[in-house]
Amino acid sequence: MSYHQGMKNGVGGSVITFLNEIWSIGAEGKAASLRRQIGLSNQVGLLGAVATLPYQIFYLLHDIGSYWLVFSANILFITAYLSVVLCNLIGRHSLARDLALLTACGQVFVVTGLIGSAAGVQLFYFSVGAFLALAYSRMNARRFWLQSLGIGVLFIISQFLFTPARALTPVPSPYVDFMFGGSVLGVLALSAVIAYLYRAAIDQAEFDMALNNRELTTLSTTDTLTGLANRRKLDETLNREWDRMRRSGLPLSFVMCDVDHFKIYNDNLGHQAGDVCLQQVATAMQAALVRPGDLVARYGGEEFAVVLPDTDAQGAHQVAETLRQAVGALRIPHVPEKGVAFLSVSLGVTCSAEGSPADSPTTLLRKADEALYLAKASGRDQVVYLPLQAQQVSAES
Ligand code: GH3
Ligand code: MG
Ligand code: MG
Repeated sequence: MSYHQGMKNGVGGSVITFLNEIWSIGAEGKAASLRRQIGLSNQVGLLGAVATLPYQIFYLLHDIGSYWLVFSANILFITAYLSVVLCNLIGRHSLARDLALLTACGQVFVVTGLIGSAAGVQLFYFSVGAFLALAYSRMNARRFWLQSLGIGVLFIISQFLFTPARALTPVPSPYVDFMFGGSVLGVLALSAVIAYLYRAAIDQAEFDMALNNRELTTLSTTDTLTGLANRRKLDETLNREWDRMRRSGLPLSFVMCDVDHFKIYNDNLGHQAGDVCLQQVATAMQAALVRPGDLVARYGGEEFAVVLPDTDAQGAHQVAETLRQAVGALRIPHVPEKGVAFLSVSLGVTCSAEGSPADSPTTLLRKADEALYLAKASGRDQVVYLPLQAQQVSAES
C-alpha cells in the first residue's frame, strides 16, 4: 500500500507513478535510508541530463561550429548522468552517488570555463550544495563540511575567474542574458523538485512505519492459534474497563470459560484435532457476542475469558449461557467411549456490582475462576455465577 495512492489518479497521477518507478530503479527491497540515497542519485542523474538539453539545443541551433567543444563535453556528461541510473541498477549504489555528484560538479566547472560565468551555469553549485546533506544514507558531519567547502571553492573560481573575457567560447549578448535567466530558473526548479521528491520519500517512510507499527500492535495482542485477543490484550482491556467502571459506576462483568474434558479429547483425537476444535470454539464464542465493547480473549490453553463492560450480573449470566449454548450447538463429537458425547464448556461469571472498594481486576478474575471451579465440580457444561463479595466456596468434586 502506498502513501501516494490517493494522489495517483488521472494523467498527473500516471506521470508521478512513472517517475516514481524511474527514481526507484535499483532501490527495490533496500532499507529506507539507502532507498532515499538511490532515489536521489537517480534524480540527480536524470534531471542533470534533462537540464543539459536546452543548452545543447542552443549550441546546436545557434552555432555548433563554435560550440562543438562544450557540446561534445556535455554529451560526455549526459552519458555519465545516465550511467548513474545504470550503476544503481547493477547495485553499485555508492559509485552511482559519487558519479552523480562528480558529474554535476565537473560539468558546471567545465561548462562555465568554456562559455564564461555570465551564462550563470555556476549557479547550479547551489543545487549541488543543497543536495549534499541528503546524498548519503549515513550522515557524516566532517565529510559534509569538507564537501560543502569544496563546492564553495568551485563556485568562487567559476564565478570570478571564468569571466566572459577569459572564456574560450563565450555566449554573446543578448543570448547570454536569456541563458542566465534559464540557469536561474533551472537551479530553482531542480532544487525544488529534488527537495519535493525527498520530502515525499520521507512521508512514504513515515507512512510505512505507522502501518508497520499498527500491524505489530495487532500481532502482539492477537492469539496466533485462534485469532482472538491474547492475554496481554485481555489484561489491558480488563484494567482499562476496571478504571472506567470506577469512574462511571456502571457494572463490569467477567467470565472465565474452560473446555470440558479437553485432555481426553486431545489424548484420543490428537493435538491437531484439539487445535482445530479450539479454533471452532473461539469463532463460535466471538460470533455469539453482539456488543462491540465486549471482549473475548484466549486466557491460555483451553481457557477463554470474556470482559463485559456495562453489564450487570443478570446480563452477564445470560451472555455466559449464550456462549455455552453456542459451543454446544457446534455439536463437535467428543469421545463417547469415555462418556462424553459432544464438546462442551463450563463458565464462571462474576460482576463488579456487589464488590467493595478494596477489589481490583485481580479479585474479579479470581472470583470468576472460583465460579468456574464450581461449575466444573457441579458436573460441567454449565454456568455458575458468584457475586464478588462472596466468601471462597470450597466445592466438592
Ligand atoms: P476439565 O473439564 O476439568 O477442564 O478437564 P480438562 O481435561 O479440560 O482439563 P485439564 O486442565 O486437565 O487439561 C487441559 C488440556 O487441554 C491439556 C491439553 O491437552 C489441552 N490443551 C491446552 N492447550 C492446548 C492447545 O493449545 N492445543 C491443544 N490441542 N490442546 C491444548
Ligand atoms: Mg483448563
Ligand atoms: Mg478444561
